[in-house]
Amino acid sequence: MSEIEKVNCLIIGSGPAGYTAAIYAARADMKPVMYQGMQPGGQLTTTNEVENFPGYPDGISGPEMMVQLEAQAKRFETDVRFGFITKVDFSGAVHKCWTEEGHEIHANTIIISTGASAKYLGLESEQKYLQLGGGVSACAVCDGFFYRGQETVIVGAGDSACEEAHYLSKLCTKVTMLVRKEEFRASKIMAERVKNTKNIEILFSTDTVEVLGDGNVVTGAHVKNSKTGEEKIIPCTGFFVAIGHQPNTEIFKDFINLDETGYIKYEQPGTSKTNVAGVFVAGDAADKTYRQAITAAGTGCMAALDAERYLAALGH
Ligand code: NDP
Repeated sequence: MSEIEKVNCLIIGSGPAGYTAAIYAARADMKPVMYQGMQPGGQLTTTNEVENFPGYPDGISGPEMMVQLEAQAKRFETDVRFGFITKVDFSGAVHKCWTEEGHEIHANTIIISTGASAKYLGLESEQKYLQLGGGVSACAVCDGFFYRGQETVIVGAGDSACEEAHYLSKLCTKVTMLVRKEEFRASKIMAERVKNTKNIEILFSTDTVEVLGDGNVVTGAHVKNSKTGEEKIIPCTGFFVAIGHQPNTEIFKDFINLDETGYIKYEQPGTSKTNVAGVFVAGDAADKTYRQAITAAGTGCMAALDAERYLAALGH
């Protein structure tokens, strides 16, 4: 494929934001082409049960939901491609993109829905139970419900960790928060709220040595105090990691305005517009606050409608 391909609407990334954008764009006859990216289906493919997406009264597994969204996008003839965009050039009137194989695409409109990736500690045991769906999670709002009436551990000291610890404290009998330094990074008000919650125990200067389990599910956390050297085991069935997210925006940084943590900045709040005309953003690549499948889907819809109006104004 050495010839330059011209497309009307290129969607980069295939989470709920990308698929929703595809469904809207395809139904508006924009003939969208989607590159699925490194993790087809996005973050939801590492989630077990999704119980908070409206329309699924009995819940649905994350991977199954993404299969359904893909099928819905294809039903309206979205061209869904396995592969990823590795380079872009948004400096001129034509938006240029290249796939990992060097295929060059010129797009009238682009919808960026590359998402964000949760950061993990990187311990082998953590990754093992994450892959097994056995009790490791990076999203308390998504998975906390499964641990109601049980004991959980959460790692992190920022606003997300405090917010998620507080969320878990309402469901769980006990939440142990592991803070690696002697202090929180979170804002004072968030930290105070956690400190004042009875069933949250905070362990400062504490690192995770290992996530413990029975081979299928998590049973505890082996931790170590970095000041005293004391080690202990905290029983828990859920091990939550809230040490930040990394938006997948690296390839856009020379052209698209990002904030100091790498999230894409909306040019005009209340729209999906970026600083480049014809380039729109949806989902977690621009959202460090809500990060939900349903909010990503909502902004995917916005991006497709904004792209459609942009094309209409150009007379396409
Ligand atoms: P942050 O980057 O603010 O915090 C990450 C936390 O994780 C830090 O406390 C850091 O520790 C800790 N951490 C990082 N790596 C490790 C590790 N390997 N082991 C143990 N701990 C680790 O991320 P957040 O997701 O909390 O927040 C991102 C942004 O979103 C912030 O600007 C935040 O204010 C904002 N936000 C706002 C909310 C609100 O206002 N309601 C809610 C959620 C987020 P250390 O401090 O030691 O570096």
